Amino acid sequence: MPNTVKHHPSLSVLEQFCEGRLTAEVALVVAAHIDLCPHCQQLQHDIEADLACAWAGEPIAATTDNSAFAAMLQQIVSAEPAPLEAAASSLSKAKSLEFGGQQFLVPRSLQRLAAKRSKWLTLGGIATARLPSGDPHHISLLYISEQTQVPRHTHQGMEMTLVLSGEIEDENGRYVAGDLIVATPDHTHTPRNVKQEPCLCLSVLSAPLTFTEGMTRLLNPLQRFFY
Ligand SMILES: [Zn+2]
Repeated sequence: MPNTVKHHPSLSVLEQFCEGRLTAEVALVVAAHIDLCPHCQQLQHDIEADLACAWAGEPIAATTDNSAFAAMLQQIVSAEPAPLEAAASSLSKAKSLEFGGQQFLVPRSLQRLAAKRSKWLTLGGIATARLPSGDPHHISLLYISEQTQVPRHTHQGMEMTLVLSGEIEDENGRYVAGDLIVATPDHTHTPRNVKQEPCLCLSVLSAPLTFTEGMTRLLNPLQRFFY
C-alpha cells in the first residue's frame, strides 16, 4: 500500500494519551491520528489493557473510610448517557467540511471541534481556520492548495501537523493522510504540496513560527497568519 501511515506519535506520547496526561490540544491531535492509524489503534488498545490490569491489581486505599471510592462508583453508574439523537445529528453534519469547492472527511474525534472553526483566512494558496483552544496552544485547520509551498520556517515552540487529506512533503520526508509531523525549535523546514490535489492538515502550535527566507518585512504578517 503506497499510502500507509508511517509517522506516529512516540510510545511515550501514546501512553500519556491513554493516561489522560496530555494537554487538550495535543490529545486532540493524537486522537485524530489514532482515528486514521490502525497501528496506533492496536497500541492504544494494548496500553489501555495494561493500564486496566495495573489498576485492577492495585489494592483499594487501605483506609477504613471507603466513602470517596463509593462516591466515585456512584458517579460512574449514575452518569447520564448523552442524548443519542442530538449527538447523532450533530455528528452527521460535521463528518466532512467543504473548502475551495472540495469536501474533506473529518476524523471522528475532530468533528465536534471542526464544526466550531472560525472563518477561513486565505493567503495565496494557503488558508487557515482557527479552532477553539486554550493558550498558549493554537490549533487550526490548514489548507494547502495543489503545487503550493509554505515559506521556509523554524519554530519558537512545538509544531504538530497531522495530515487529514492529500499529501505534503518537506526536507525530511513525505506525509500522507494520518501522518503526524512533530517539529521543535531544532527543525527548519519548507512544507509543500507538490501534488495536483489540495491538502488539508490539522496544526497545533505552542508558539509562533519564525520565517527564515525572503523579506522579513513581508513575512512578518505571515507569522500572525499562521499563529
Ligand atoms: Zn500511528
